[in-house]
Amino acid sequence: MIYLDYAADTPVRKEVLEAFNEASEKYFANPNANHALGKAAKARIEVLTAQIAELLNVKPQELIFTSGATESNNLAIKGVAEQYGRKGKHIITSFLEHSSVTGPLSYLQEKGYEVDYVNLRPDGRIDLEHLKELLRPDTILLSFAAVDSELGVVQDLTAIKKLLGDYPNCLLHVDATQAIGKVHLDIESIDLMTFTAHKVYGIHGIGALVKKEKVYLTPVIHGGLSTTPFRSGTPTLALIQSMYTALELALREQNDSCKRVAQFNTQVRQALSQYPEVMMNSQEAVTTPYILNISLKGIKASLMQQKLEEREIYISTKSACVTPNTPSRPVLALSGDRKRALSTLRISFSHLTIKKEIDGFIEAFKMCYQELK
Ligand code: PLP
Repeated sequence: MIYLDYAADTPVRKEVLEAFNEASEKYFANPNANHALGKAAKARIEVLTAQIAELLNVKPQELIFTSGATESNNLAIKGVAEQYGRKGKHIITSFLEHSSVTGPLSYLQEKGYEVDYVNLRPDGRIDLEHLKELLRPDTILLSFAAVDSELGVVQDLTAIKKLLGDYPNCLLHVDATQAIGKVHLDIESIDLMTFTAHKVYGIHGIGALVKKEKVYLTPVIHGGLSTTPFRSGTPTLALIQSMYTALELALREQNDSCKRVAQFNTQVRQALSQYPEVMMNSQEAVTTPYILNISLKGIKASLMQQKLEEREIYISTKSACVTPNTPSRPVLALSGDRKRALSTLRISFSHLTIKKEIDGFIEAFKMCYQELK
């Protein structure tokens, strides 16, 4: 088996599972309970929150634990829109965004908010001149992925934030789900930041939204006591512990992992670029090495995916959350070519990937290609 779909999901690390199990056994009481066991659990959550905050270079009170990136994106976007709706109803985003960003934005459009899409440069980076033109005094939010899930384009958040100097009402929300533990993040420039544990070898069902102290949010989930007034629900101590362990390891190993993955990306890129039918959608100069997106001219990408799967090689055609057999929005936005956008394949790597798997993938691709041509 060769798994090259790490942008969709990662296997849970042994250390993470151990940390989860240990915390589950040791701290089973409800952290909201007013007895010694509850207080011990609450104190442990406070320690973990401070540790995660330190890893990210934010304040503990700026962390809101959620069930994952989808919830964090919903909370950031709907929470800001409702909180600041009196100042303006204009939001700017891009065609690179995940469905957990476009979903809440479509919902807000139905509620009377105006959503503009910024142009992308041919390499996938945001066109800052166009962004400047789109910004208005009633723009309350920009929502951009630090690294998008289909092409892996790394955006220049510092430059984007700089443009907001004259727009004090406008906040920058960044979906860092594909970025955390993989690329450097300019946390100073970000007002709200989404991430999730299961992309960094953590457990499903836990993520967070960083919300800088000066930002207010209308909650999406209402109810009783939690670690913050912005999201109700009994705090999930063992999951928080497991996310801390996953993040700590990912950040500690970030540089080494990135170097290792870059070699694999280059090897696959070089091998596939020999085929005239292969079009590179991820431009090397601006994308993370973790994602390589290609299109196949005249070959159905889903057939290639199936053929590879028959050989127990797993890659994806797009982001796992997108409706199948629809064009890739990022590729369509960049190329304007519907056929190209309908034939995308996403290969995504990990520090766990080994050379033998890369060689195996390249060999299998060659055989499948010959069968499909
Ligand atoms: N944002 C991006 C960029 C993603 O890649 C994903 C997952 O694929 C999500 C959000 C959603 O994450 P979750 O599964 O934690 O809800």
